[in-house]
Amino acid sequence: MNYHSNREEKIAAFSNAPLSFSLSESDRDEMKRSAAQKIEELFDILLIDHKNDHNTRETPTRVARLFVDEILRGRFCDPPPITEFMNVNDYDQLIVTGPIQLRSTCAHHLMPIYGHAIIGVLPSSGGNIIGLSKYDRIVDHFASRLQIQEELIMQIERHIVDATRPRGLAVRINAVHMCKCHRGVKASRSSRMINNSYYGLLADHSDLRNEFLQEVATLERSLLGD
Ligand SMILES: [Zn+2]
Repeated sequence: MNYHSNREEKIAAFSNAPLSFSLSESDRDEMKRSAAQKIEELFDILLIDHKNDHNTRETPTRVARLFVDEILRGRFCDPPPITEFMNVNDYDQLIVTGPIQLRSTCAHHLMPIYGHAIIGVLPSSGGNIIGLSKYDRIVDHFASRLQIQEELIMQIERHIVDATRPRGLAVRINAVHMCKCHRGVKASRSSRMINNSYYGLLADHSDLRNEFLQEVATLERSLLGD
């Protein structure tokens, strides 16, 4: 299927929502070629010589690849498969994993967002538990879109809840937004945005939230100055 067919319908979804279809490799190649041409046009408008300047000659192609293969990759492919293990001993206490590297792109300014996520899970006894590295892959999948941090955290939470049905879940993101550092108010890179999202028993019980936040404090202390 040519990804240009029904184009209007396909671009109607929010920019951080998944497409309702997947792109084939040839679709993505076509997308990269078209995007590179448009970036050349943009460079022409901005009086950047992409034909003769040795620095910018290949930049439109590189940037088109960067968008399709990395910055927007999470829109063009399915979420990572989740490997489940039987929770044979009915472990039902809080599991905290992180810091998970987070790299995303701000939907408002197309500038990098980077930092980390920390995830707390209260597994269902009698249910399954998932491999720890899957949380890193889930974060990376949803971060590989144009995002705002408030919606990114909710997409990560919703996906883990739907996929694993835990009794409780906490997601924390602690990130630097380069749109605040590299432009506008030109904030220091120690200026961060932190948000937490709680589900189930973690939303209902402050003692569980405090337990999560204590583990967060320990994990984040090791990152001071990062
Ligand atoms: Zn921004």
